[in-house]
Amino acid sequence: MDPVEQLAALVRGRPPCVVLTGAGISTESGIPDFRSRSGIWADVDPFEVASLSAFRRDPERVWEFYRWRLSVLGDAEPNEGHLALAELERRGVVEAVVTQNIDLLHARAGSRNVVEVHGSIRTSSCRRCRAAQGLERVRELLAASAGAPRCPRCGAVLKPDVVFFEEPLPEAAIGEAYSLARRAGLLLVVGSSLEVYPVAEVPAVTRRAGGDVAIVNRGATAQDGLATLTIDAGAGETLRRLAELV
Ligand code: NAD
Repeated sequence: MDPVEQLAALVRGRPPCVVLTGAGISTESGIPDFRSRSGIWADVDPFEVASLSAFRRDPERVWEFYRWRLSVLGDAEPNEGHLALAELERRGVVEAVVTQNIDLLHARAGSRNVVEVHGSIRTSSCRRCRAAQGLERVRELLAASAGAPRCPRCGAVLKPDVVFFEEPLPEAAIGEAYSLARRAGLLLVVGSSLEVYPVAEVPAVTRRAGGDVAIVNRGATAQDGLATLTIDAGAGETLRRLAELV
């Protein structure tokens, strides 16, 4: 049996299937991942642009990075990996997608049960009065002036509603992710180095509750030792074939 056939057998034999995705599922949409050689952190120090202390110290610098990120994300479309997961959910094969990605591509591909454990670019909020602005409004504010966008209500700097280093994860989302991981017969990890906690703990949660773990990732991950099956291959083609076989 080739590895994708083995994966299809696991998906069929060990329901329900919960999927955990990371930046690797979106690279085929033209969005760089974080830790690969060509990843975002190869050129940029994450603590300078994606930590809460950096945001407090120099929000203009953080928004310079986010201005670039939003322009990359704005051009991106869901790829065959996102589309295959949405189709598998419609067919009742996948129960939910837990994602570390902030790019909204699962929802745009048609996945309905998506748990965003690191927030998303859907909104940015005012640090002072808490008013939230939608992505389109933030794009307008960025286009209208250089530097960090400011709250239209009170004038304080907005912050993307994305989890920064030194920030806790949204409690409801991580709670839902852990409960899905406990219920999963199979946790299918796609495109994540599984190095960033607490999400990196999710496969162990599934294993402790008696479920299986399968990992589709280019290169090794930090949790390969927990997996029943690892497939070192591209996410898009692997998931498209999986959807054909299940
Ligand atoms: P990662 O870059 O650590 O890992 C991505 C993995 O996907 C790599 O192992 C890579 O080899 C693999 N990959 C790349 N393209 C692939 C493809 N086409 N098919 C299969 N595999 C592929 O990304 P991660 O695991 O998602 O990182 C964890 C999280 O850290 C991120 O999702 C992000 O949310 C978070 N984070 C974000 C910020 C921020 O910007 N605010 C800061 C810190 C951490």
